[in-house]
Amino acid sequence: MFYGLTSEQLDLQARARDIATRVILPRSAEIDRSEEYPWDNVAALNAAGFMGMTIPKAYGGAGLNFLDAAIVIEEMAKVCGVTGRISVEANMGAISAVMQYGTEEQRRLAARLVLDGDKPAICITEPDAGSAASEMTTRADKRGSRYILNGKKHWITGGGVSRFHLIFARVFDESGVDCGIGGFIAIRDEDKGLVIGKREPTMGLRGIPETEVIFTDLEIDESRVLMPPSGFKRGFGDLMNAYNAQRVGAATVALGLAAGAYERARLFTLEREQFGRPIAEFQGLQWMLADMSTQLEAARLMIYSAARSRGDNDSPFPDANAAAQAKLFASEMAIKVTNDALQLFGAKGYSRNTPLERIVRDARMFTIGGGTAQILRTVIATRILDRKFPQTRDGYVKGRDAETRGSAELKAV
Ligand SMILES: Cc1cc2nc3c(=O)[nH]c(=O)nc-3n(C[C@H](O)[C@H](O)[C@H](O)COP(=O)(O)OP(=O)(O)OC[C@H]3O[C@@H](n4cnc5c(N)ncnc54)[C@H](O)[C@@H]3O)c2cc1C
Repeated sequence: MFYGLTSEQLDLQARARDIATRVILPRSAEIDRSEEYPWDNVAALNAAGFMGMTIPKAYGGAGLNFLDAAIVIEEMAKVCGVTGRISVEANMGAISAVMQYGTEEQRRLAARLVLDGDKPAICITEPDAGSAASEMTTRADKRGSRYILNGKKHWITGGGVSRFHLIFARVFDESGVDCGIGGFIAIRDEDKGLVIGKREPTMGLRGIPETEVIFTDLEIDESRVLMPPSGFKRGFGDLMNAYNAQRVGAATVALGLAAGAYERARLFTLEREQFGRPIAEFQGLQWMLADMSTQLEAARLMIYSAARSRGDNDSPFPDANAAAQAKLFASEMAIKVTNDALQLFGAKGYSRNTPLERIVRDARMFTIGGGTAQILRTVIATRILDRKFPQTRDGYVKGRDAETRGSAELKAV
């Protein structure tokens, strides 16, 4: 398949593949078993320059683009979903938002931490505000030059290991007027009032903690407000634009997991013999492999295209529709392809002694986190029909004026 990669990108891919195979692969089963964050893999990513590679050179990064990052993420995810996800969050999402909208001081702070091995956490989801993210109740009350944050987030990836936190909260001015949703930067263990709550026992991707993050009178100086160009009133939309990059990254982890499972299954069907012949000689299995490889190629092309795209008004982030379509397709493809790969292994696939069952569990996440498959379909429908479709019965979203209601709801995580 022709992907139009440059010679630099092919070199980057070869380097990432080498590190993934030599260093990351041998540790992936143990990470799943121990459920411990793989600091040694982070060190390997860091040594290779894969943490913060999208950070501009002026801030110490490599100044690479989202497609470069996707190339590395896919190689990591082929052998270890957890390491793939770390590579996403160290190059896309919160870090991209700060590099685009942050002040000089904020950019330097984020770059220093990420280049030192920190995977930023992005705190949006709350117990009562999942898909309806804009209904969040975590509040930031302005008091002089500070904001006081109170509330609770959950399912925060990296809770307890991440230091840099980008927290989304509803902002109230000194008179208690709701000003919209803003982004606040807090550093765990430095800013008092940010407490890590209970950890979720997850189905897959067990090497990264998913936890509650609780804010109790967390004081954030106004210099730590991440202010998008449109201010608080419509700023949530701008901040969520940065999330389009993270969506492409999540799609790439799903792709990598599926590609890894497919390749293992392809080799297995050539080796495993039944009825006196390699099982690859049975047409039913050949067609399964043909479908799997076709779906993988389609997902990869969509992801590359989304990574290369730019959003509305030449926004530096991937186009919202392209990112949503890539994540929707790749996440559903990964569930199917990893399940088919397990099937091709027979009983061996069902054993914890082979990685297939882990890969199936890891892949299951991507139609949920980062925008569910259902919400992404609504995002896509909004774009292709050029109409907003409010999701609440009366089309009302707390604290938003009528004009922004529909779009606010569709900024769901
Ligand atoms: C492993 C993992 C990591 C995560 N990491 C983070 C993180 O780092 N930071 C963060 O902020 N969040 C994170 N999340 C949270 C994630 O973004 C939410 O789980 C997601 O937005 C869905 O919210 P919910 O789980 O509350 O589901 P709900 O919103 O309650 O949805 C339940 C079901 O209803 C469907 N549904 C809801 N509304 C509609 C609608 N209008 N139309 C059609 N269907 C609808 C959904 O698709 C889903 O199937 C993570 C989640 C997971 C699983």
